[in-house]
Amino acid sequence: MNNHCGWIALAGTAAPRARLHGNQQADFLIIGAGITGLSAAHALAEAHPQARIVVLDRQRAAQGASARNSGFAVAHEHPAALELIGQPGFAGYQADTAISRAANDALRQRLARLAIDCEFRDDGYLFAVNDPAKLTDIDATLATLRAVGAQARFLQGAALQQRLGTGHYQAAIECAGGNALLQPAKYVRGLLDTLPASVTVHEHTAVTALERLASGGLRAVAAHGSVTAPRVLVCLNAFIARSGLAASATFPMELSASLTRPLSEQELGDTQPWGVLSTRPLGATVRLTPDRRVMIRNTAEYRGTDLTDAQLLQRRQHHLQGLQRRFPWLTAEDIRYTWTGHLSASRSGQPYFAEVERGLYAVAGCNGSGVARGTLWGQLLAELASDQRSPLLDAVLERARPGWLPPKPLLDIGAWLRMRVETVRARSEI
Ligand SMILES: Cc1cc2nc3c(=O)[nH]c(=O)nc-3n(C[C@H](O)[C@H](O)[C@H](O)COP(=O)(O)OP(=O)(O)OC[C@H]3O[C@@H](n4cnc5c(N)ncnc54)[C@H](O)[C@@H]3O)c2cc1C
Repeated sequence: MNNHCGWIALAGTAAPRARLHGNQQADFLIIGAGITGLSAAHALAEAHPQARIVVLDRQRAAQGASARNSGFAVAHEHPAALELIGQPGFAGYQADTAISRAANDALRQRLARLAIDCEFRDDGYLFAVNDPAKLTDIDATLATLRAVGAQARFLQGAALQQRLGTGHYQAAIECAGGNALLQPAKYVRGLLDTLPASVTVHEHTAVTALERLASGGLRAVAAHGSVTAPRVLVCLNAFIARSGLAASATFPMELSASLTRPLSEQELGDTQPWGVLSTRPLGATVRLTPDRRVMIRNTAEYRGTDLTDAQLLQRRQHHLQGLQRRFPWLTAEDIRYTWTGHLSASRSGQPYFAEVERGLYAVAGCNGSGVARGTLWGQLLAELASDQRSPLLDAVLERARPGWLPPKPLLDIGAWLRMRVETVRARSEI
């Protein structure tokens, strides 16, 4: 079966960009044309209008995880028990939320400045559960969210069923005042299409090595050419290890999702678009899109290799079961697209963000919230690579502690066990 991303298909075909051929020079080289890399390209072009900026991507630009994600622009995460107001983790939650809110502002500013139309909806989304026991400390959670600037309300029963058009969810916290939804392929494509002439993007150009030259510059090597630049920004997220940066303390995960046909008014009444996140890390993410399709993402795996077609077919079956729990009349024929995507996670939930060595800058470890954060990180990585500092950059550098990872095979065993435990905990929420 085809690994065919619905968001990309519905966003339409972008004009192709040439592969890299021959040896080129640039003032700044960006590796990776996702949200982070393209946001960095815009920021660098704005700060250095005369600079030559080159972006390389191993596949079509703007078609990696940045186009394949679920489109939640996160300003306010659901707080964990130890992050609730009055608990020891609240200060950290406040600091992280301040960064996420700044990331959301950066995203909104980018959309406005570049006039990107990506079906942006500013009215928040829900943390919803099938098993009410999975939504604990409701009053404290509402108070915590409000204390960091969110608008939060508790929903259950008929009001929740009416809001979502399904009786599957038993309780929810609706959280607005920052959280938003968008069509991810349209967003990242908008970043690509609006790049100024000083930025050159080469597609189908996998960087296979990064070399330090005797002159002090860096050279990125690909199959048919190379780019030499004094400053290189590595924006590969789950693929950071491919650039030779093995010590980022992040690890890759593979997720899969499906998107249905548009549902009719008979099927859904006048239900308005919505987005639901689970309170469990491995619970389902579900959306009703503005064109009334249902998207579900209910698998997440720690994997070193891509899913095969047969494995993707199994995941699609899992998506169908999740869809039928919510909308029992849906069948396999109603699914139009099924796809996978790769994200990068860390043990602490914090990113890797660093000047790795002179002139080499890198970020990874989006932990599933890179739509807004990737936008900000690209900007801040550009700031770091321009020898500038701001309080926001300092705050991000301060929080960027991804945590220690054991060496393989201990990492593989530990991650596998953790995923098993989380799968069981999320069983009612997939
Ligand atoms: C299914 C799914 C659902 C998600 N849902 C959400 C969500 O709702 N909200 C949210 O905030 N985040 C979500 N995420 C995470 C989000 O997609 C990422 O955080 C974000 O896309 C990271 O952007 P990026 O530019 O850093 O990385 P990417 O988009 O992964 O871009 C990296 C680029 O590097 C390229 N590349 C790889 N290797 C090489 C190489 N050797 N040479 C050159 N280029 C290379 C890739 O082709 C890719 O285009 C989700 C992720 C997935 C997979």
